[in-house]
Amino acid sequence: MQIDGLTATPLHVPRGYLRVVKADDAKAQHSLELLLTGPEHVLAGSAEVRVLAGGQGRLSLEESQARLQIALPTLSLAEQRFVVDQALRSLGGIVNVGDISLAGSEVSDECLLTIGLDLYHRSKGRLRMPKHAALFERVQRIGKSEDLYRSWVNEDPSTRTSIAISRDVQNWALDHKDVQVEVLDETMCKELGLNLLCAVGGASDSSPPRLVLASYRPKGVKSAPLAIVGKGITFDTGGINVKPYASFVSMMKNDMGGAALAVSLFTALVEAEHPEPLLLVVPTCENAVGERAMRPGALVKSYAGKTVRIDHTDAEGRLILADGIAYAGSKYQPRGYLCFATLTTSALNSYGPYATPVHFAEPAFESDLASAGQAMGEDFHFFPKRLWHTLANSDQEADLRNTARLPGNASAGAGSRNAAHFLLEFANAPLCHLDIFATTWNWSGEAPGAGYGATGAPLRSLLAAFGL
Ligand SMILES: [Zn+2]
Repeated sequence: MQIDGLTATPLHVPRGYLRVVKADDAKAQHSLELLLTGPEHVLAGSAEVRVLAGGQGRLSLEESQARLQIALPTLSLAEQRFVVDQALRSLGGIVNVGDISLAGSEVSDECLLTIGLDLYHRSKGRLRMPKHAALFERVQRIGKSEDLYRSWVNEDPSTRTSIAISRDVQNWALDHKDVQVEVLDETMCKELGLNLLCAVGGASDSSPPRLVLASYRPKGVKSAPLAIVGKGITFDTGGINVKPYASFVSMMKNDMGGAALAVSLFTALVEAEHPEPLLLVVPTCENAVGERAMRPGALVKSYAGKTVRIDHTDAEGRLILADGIAYAGSKYQPRGYLCFATLTTSALNSYGPYATPVHFAEPAFESDLASAGQAMGEDFHFFPKRLWHTLANSDQEADLRNTARLPGNASAGAGSRNAAHFLLEFANAPLCHLDIFATTWNWSGEAPGAGYGATGAPLRSLLAAFGL
């Protein structure tokens, strides 16, 4: 029986279940072996499976088990993850991704680790790696951090509010005596002059402005902390400039992805007894519509003292980050900032769904993150500071405006870079910013290991860059 290149002897395999993509002739160098559970009605047999980019698989069906061997061509690890994921998709309906046992022949540990992580998620934790105990322990540890990140992003925005984020960080810190938490509520934010954060969150009663800070200092260490900053817009309506349906408004619960990533990285580092001080900084609120919503054209004085003209109420992420960064800078004097935010749709529209733009990484961190990305199968683009992107943020009425523009119509693809330069205006130490809009969410539907919604990217690379 021949169905779209898959030869098998199942009782009944509807054509729609198979998604076999034409292979090219790339030479495979090594192979992965997956032991999968299959439905009982699948009879014994064997099948050739060809998947995108030259990966080739052989599937053996034996009673209620299936053995899938995937020969991997010479590709980057990010591409190999994609090939393996496509192979599993091509089998959807024939084989259950339930209990999976993973083994490899001449496959690098990195490959087993990152593909193991994808299988860990696909099988909802039912992965086994009997021949690789140490790697499997790392898969479970990283997988749990990715689960936390993903579950916050996927949660209903009516429960994953600024109040829930504050509460969960405070509760987690109860078990960690080397962590001090400070939560500024709306009244305190107003008194202190965090006017940008208050302007963005002013229309929401259920998810009002909060600035959540958590300071971690290992015993006896005196040096300045690294600030880990995350944007926590728990739902983004766009504000008075309401988002049209085509602007992904139904996915805008993911606009706290930066906060979820920052909390997941910070808690993982603290639990691993990271040797240097860290500071978690999460400005969070909902960008809602209502009588108290900020108006386009408003002139707002930031915590740092610079004035900002609100040109468009949907460019709100940079506003709350500006006050969070400036407050953390004046009170805690960090040695640097590592910032995560679903900041611009430009990150997706300009660079596609598989790579995270990274702005202003210092050379040592760029090198660490680039190597970690290669080892963990995630891609990054690195961008430097440039004067014209700084100038694009200046305004005639105020010091800055929240929608940067390059002269003419030259800004179309520059949104991620322009917005990153806005953040620099508020940092009193080196700042590295990851615009995770494209990668935190499964926009393409084909992110390896992810179903609908949150992907968990790029947490595994960040953990690896910090040595975890
Ligand atoms: Zn927005």
